[in-house]
Amino acid sequence: MFKKKTVKGVDVRGRRVLVRVDFNVPLSEGSVTDDTRVRAALPTIRYLVDHGARVIIASHLGRPSGEPDPRFSLRPVRRVLQRLIGRNVVFVDDIAGSDAREAVERMVDGEILMLENVRFDPGEKANDPGFAAKLASLADIYVDDAFGAAHRAHASTVGVADHLPAYAGLLLAREVETLSGMLLDPERPFVAILGGSKVSDKFGVIDRLLESVDTLIIGGGMCFTLLVAKGVDVGKSLVEDEWVEPAKEMLAKAADNDVDLLLPVDFIVAEEITEDADTSIVGREEIPADMMGLDIGPTTVELFKGAISSARTVFWNGPMGVFELTPFETGTRAVASAVARNSRAVSVVGGGDSVGALKKFGLEERITFVSTGGGASMKLLEGSVLPGIEALLDA
Ligand code: ADP
Ligand code: MG
Repeated sequence: MFKKKTVKGVDVRGRRVLVRVDFNVPLSEGSVTDDTRVRAALPTIRYLVDHGARVIIASHLGRPSGEPDPRFSLRPVRRVLQRLIGRNVVFVDDIAGSDAREAVERMVDGEILMLENVRFDPGEKANDPGFAAKLASLADIYVDDAFGAAHRAHASTVGVADHLPAYAGLLLAREVETLSGMLLDPERPFVAILGGSKVSDKFGVIDRLLESVDTLIIGGGMCFTLLVAKGVDVGKSLVEDEWVEPAKEMLAKAADNDVDLLLPVDFIVAEEITEDADTSIVGREEIPADMMGLDIGPTTVELFKGAISSARTVFWNGPMGVFELTPFETGTRAVASAVARNSRAVSVVGGGDSVGALKKFGLEERITFVSTGGGASMKLLEGSVLPGIEALLDA
């Protein structure tokens, strides 16, 4: 299923291994507030250390403008990695210049060196061949474990693979195996729950899921475009007019493929999206002209929970409502809990906001697989080629 060579297929002892990870972590006042992405990269880093490699870590962090910017330094992440892996991590305030080169020359087997944010060089995002060559010249082998950045063709995710034998890291391999395995060979019933703001963002994913799932549940802002396609008046709810026609095709495809498509039957509505908004519960045919549907209603929650509880494979992406605000979080919390409670199912959750919701509700530990790649997991599921994966050696 995963057609690329992984780090386990190469002798790394005594070799300099450039590992691209996704340490794009949230920072507050110079401290890492969520270390999930660092933890996710530990298996690959440990594997390399245990097998005597000289491990050179590269990552991006945030969106600096192609020049050094202390707000986006990876230095605070070094402390986190050091604590989690229980070893010294050397940090060099350079990416591919003479300081980095000298630091690499001083390395011994099993040592870890962390480079500064690759996006401090404009050549990173431009996938500049000169920058990629300089970065690659630090190492003998390249390992890509940055699944969250695999949909971007940058110097440290794609360019370096022109110069070095390129292997997949263990996280990247596991992400691809889990997500594509779910589509190709799921235990049935396979229930997918899609939500979030826009149908345009997820159209490709839904289209592909319609070829694989038994039941497709759609909530969140995107459901209103589908409801309009069915002739329902949705008041001021979020609708993408130019996606009404594609939404009609989506409904037809669901029918053709015998997919049970569940849409909300009631909503929490309000005139404004605020923490103290006046809310009411209405049936889906009764959304007032001046109001927006901002969460699924209680009858819908029961309907969705029923489908989720009987699944053997569940995929969830996209909040059911504006879960960031208390009046509109109930539907997302209920759906997330139903996914977590179904212990007979393999559960997979992807998407930045959905994973954020899981964390907010404290349910992350009860999910079989939480994808670390927001945009990358969606691209993979919609069947797009991910340049960071494409660049690796074929198995
Ligand atoms: P993910 O990051 O998990 O893929 P999205 O980015 O697609 O999810 O969508 C998340 C956003 O969708 C949240 O900010 C949430 O407030 C918004 N959203 C959910 N339901 C609605 C709704 N009914 N109306 C407007 N926005 C919504
Ligand atoms: Mg999002």
